[in-house]
Amino acid sequence: MSAFRDYKKELMAAARNERIRLALSRAIKSYRANTDKALKKFPHTVKMAEEVREIKEKAIGEMAKLAEQASAAIEENKGNAYIAQTAADALNIIAELVGSNKLIVKGKSMTGEEIGLRQHLEEKGNDVYETDLGEFILQKLGGKPMHITSPAIHVPREDVAQLFARITEAELTSDVEELVATARKLLRDKFCQADIGISGANVVASDTGTLFLIENEGNIRLATGFPPVHIALVGMEKLVPTLNDAYKTTEVTWRYANYTVPSYVSLVSGPSKTGDIEKVTTYGVHGPKEFHVIFLDDGRTELAKHPILRQALYCLRCGGCLYECPTFAVTAGHFGDKYFAGIGAIWAAMISQDVEKAASIAYTCLTCGRCKVRCPVKIDVPETIIELRKLIAQGDKKD
Ligand code: SF4
Repeated sequence: MSAFRDYKKELMAAARNERIRLALSRAIKSYRANTDKALKKFPHTVKMAEEVREIKEKAIGEMAKLAEQASAAIEENKGNAYIAQTAADALNIIAELVGSNKLIVKGKSMTGEEIGLRQHLEEKGNDVYETDLGEFILQKLGGKPMHITSPAIHVPREDVAQLFARITEAELTSDVEELVATARKLLRDKFCQADIGISGANVVASDTGTLFLIENEGNIRLATGFPPVHIALVGMEKLVPTLNDAYKTTEVTWRYANYTVPSYVSLVSGPSKTGDIEKVTTYGVHGPKEFHVIFLDDGRTELAKHPILRQALYCLRCGGCLYECPTFAVTAGHFGDKYFAGIGAIWAAMISQDVEKAASIAYTCLTCGRCKVRCPVKIDVPETIIELRKLIAQGDKKD
């Protein structure tokens, strides 16, 4: 009960926070304008999103098979693949690969956030740098992400300036370009010096074992291309059967994440290789010498069996629903747990197994359905929330 009281207190404080409201109102306005413009320029995306819904519906029903297929393909490409049944398994596999006293550069990963990956590696004596600018700001502030695609959405530029001035011991204005240039300077060397790069993946093609990574900053390219070892942690719901399915899913994801086209989409299928000397294939050239992919189940296969709640696994993590949610607009990620807003309740209940947190989110949700209208794969969040409330009331979801 005390967790509920804390949640309520935090939520009410957020709702009274003018800065959150200001930051969110600006972000919502620009998200809607950018996404509507992108969809107008590429109207085929709406039809493609319907196809992606069908791809995901089918893929979620065969996640275990797709994970096996993808693992075989990755091994064939001279990478290493692992299937982790639980969060603890995934943390153990990664901790064993990493060891201690390593310098690690990490790209943004919701799955990493879900299992507390950075904290775990730090406890093992490693120096971990979040390299996504928003995540880097939060790491240095000691805060938690408040949005799927824009984790520091609630932090105004003035606070970033203060933070960076403290780190660099230099006078800084709140000019955004100056702040971005400062972050570039702070992180540039780390990419070159790092022992290990860690990433997630937006989509994975099972037939070729290819990871698709969408980004704009270039940090993922550097983190996955520069260090000698690349480790990727991927939730099993990211698997789709073919390369062609993956292209479609990726395009729909970025367009509903408010991009006409992102600056970078990286496709990674194995460690770097060459055949330039007498066509002898040799691994470990300029890019990573080692490539490890950990597919995480941790409740996903179980969730896929539920006829209504399984929809949560179709989520592309575009973040579109968050910009339409009236509660999120005034509370940001305080309305959620590791994943946010209505859909976050399903993840809290079924993946994190935190029923108190799930109930708090489920009963905060207004079930207004605005999220469903924006969602590219038409996840019926109100339907899942009503089902979840029923399960909680019946006691079918217990801690
Ligand atoms: S529920 Fe739909 S709109 Fe929200 S993040 Fe997932 S795919 Fe995007």
